[in-house]
Amino acid sequence: MENNCLFCRIVAGEIAAEIIYSDERSVAFRDINPQAPTHVLVVPREHIESLDDATQKDEALLGHLLRVAARVANEMGHSESGYRAVINTGAGAGQSVFHLHVHMLGGRALEWPPG
Ligand code: 5GP
Ligand code: ZN
Repeated sequence: MENNCLFCRIVAGEIAAEIIYSDERSVAFRDINPQAPTHVLVVPREHIESLDDATQKDEALLGHLLRVAARVANEMGHSESGYRAVINTGAGAGQSVFHLHVHMLGGRALEWPPG
């Protein structure tokens, strides 16, 4: 765990979050500044800075994070209306917390392309 990493501290239970789902590899919790009626972040328990820092050994973990995002979306009732899973990578793409996370957004119509 990285002590100065916000999401490591949420995973460790040191900072409160509304946890939606957790398992041995991942934790999903509500975004504090939701951009849609449902806005959940799915993070690995392990600290990985960004998608760009994931390596071949992380392939199964990356797939797991996407499957958790889908499972949470389905459980929250978004499978028919649709939802979006997004990974912002690098500050220029809007990444502000440097612990890999999948945004899962649902509950409203989503525009394409994103801003
Ligand atoms: P990024 O901009 O890195 O793709 O996404 C980071 C997300 O983390 C943002 O959507 C932001 O609202 C969310 N966030 C920042 N601080 C906290 C926090 O303390 N708790 C929770 N639950 N979400 C946070
Ligand atoms: Zn971290």
